[in-house]
Amino acid sequence: MAPTDDVEITEGMQRYIDRNNIYLADRERYIREVVKKWKFDTIAVHGLYTVRDAIDDYQGSIIEPIFMSTAQAYRDSDEMAAALAYKIPTWCYSRIANPSTYYYEWTLALLEGYGYDGETSCCSTSSGMAAIMTAVHPFLKIQEDVNEKRNFVATVQCYGGTYQQFSVRLMQEQNIECRWVLDATNLDEWASKIDSHTRFLYGELPSNPQLGFFDIEAVADLAHSHNLPLIVDSTIATPALLRPICHGADIVVQSATKSLTSSGFGICGAVIARKNLVTNINDEQLKNDFSLHIKYLQNRDFGPNLHPMQAVMTLNDMRTLRSKMDLLSRNAMAVARFLEEHPRVESVQYLGLPNHPLHELASRYLWLVDAEYDEQYGKPVNRYGHLLSFCVKGGAENARRFFDGLQRIWRATDLGRIKSVATIPAISTHQQQGDEARSLAGIPHNMVRLCVGAEHPTDTIADLDQALRLAG
Ligand SMILES: *Cc1c(COP(=O)(O)O)cnc(C)c1O
Repeated sequence: MAPTDDVEITEGMQRYIDRNNIYLADRERYIREVVKKWKFDTIAVHGLYTVRDAIDDYQGSIIEPIFMSTAQAYRDSDEMAAALAYKIPTWCYSRIANPSTYYYEWTLALLEGYGYDGETSCCSTSSGMAAIMTAVHPFLKIQEDVNEKRNFVATVQCYGGTYQQFSVRLMQEQNIECRWVLDATNLDEWASKIDSHTRFLYGELPSNPQLGFFDIEAVADLAHSHNLPLIVDSTIATPALLRPICHGADIVVQSATKSLTSSGFGICGAVIARKNLVTNINDEQLKNDFSLHIKYLQNRDFGPNLHPMQAVMTLNDMRTLRSKMDLLSRNAMAVARFLEEHPRVESVQYLGLPNHPLHELASRYLWLVDAEYDEQYGKPVNRYGHLLSFCVKGGAENARRFFDGLQRIWRATDLGRIKSVATIPAISTHQQQGDEARSLAGIPHNMVRLCVGAEHPTDTIADLDQALRLAG
């Protein structure tokens, strides 16, 4: 297990620790010899929940149980003391750990670690924003010099909430400098912003809503050459299309609210990290198992934790992730092609379009997982997700006329849904950051963000077409 090395271990506690060490060794072997050999779909469907778990502990329930309970009871004081010193696996108190969130965490750790030969672990959070806060916070702690002017480097093309968290909460309120990278494909720009007070590099890709992208391997190498971790927000791709840890990233943050769930039932997030990550923070536990470290210490004290009901609902959505991301990506491609040809559309940003400036780079990274084992494909195929954006000719007014004319596509500040959803970022998700920051991030007033759902693309296209006729 982790922390608390200064606790005296009694003989009775040791008995519990020994028994649990056998269980943990068994689990490790099961993961290594069985689960890690499964295909992606099998992991998504089962995760670590086994027939044996069900029969031994959960009345044979074939679905992971939802443990609404706040706390766990112990057999005796020895078990309690061992558990609260984190010497044995424990549910102790649901702010810290819970059996339902445990299964959710393992499924995500295994999916993000699919194809990676090292180990990964996951800490669930109550939202994507909580995942980002939780992931960056440990790297910002004061080291020897209390007056050190700490900084980090991040892609300016990012989710509006992330921009606010970094520029307002960290920069303005905490005096921690966020150095924005304007062109994430320019490695020299990344490099020029790193100095001895830099704590981590952070990048979102593909970015929401502009579909920014960067060379993960090159940026990870750069980070590691400075003894820094690379944190990646991979919400838009999901592990079905991209697994940044396989390309050298140290930590992935997910807003599971989005494509991972797609049903639209609630807000949730996750931090997934590889074991033994790279950092200039002097803390062995943090390096060895980052997810466990934040789960047992920082998040115990801050409390941004996931509800067990939400954990199981999200887990249930994730079982079909691969086939869903395939369908949604194909639909988005059809819609992007339609928009590209439309006379009332000024430009379309979709990484799948061959004339997108980042198409080639994105095509190196965005692959439908296991397509080579799929009867339908039998070879690797690129898939680019279901987020796209486009600009309507004639400025903001026409964009709003088009937007208001949509009949079945939902107007909402949401994405990743099984239903098509559109928004105008400048008046919604990216409204608070103001004109200047919006222009840095490349978000004009006439930009519409569209997340294509699982409806038949013919019907989605028909709705777009009739609304575009109203514009201009
Ligand atoms: C929505 C979103 C977030 C924030 O997630 P919540 O679950 O809404 O807190 C972070 N990053 C990206 C890319 C997002 O789209």
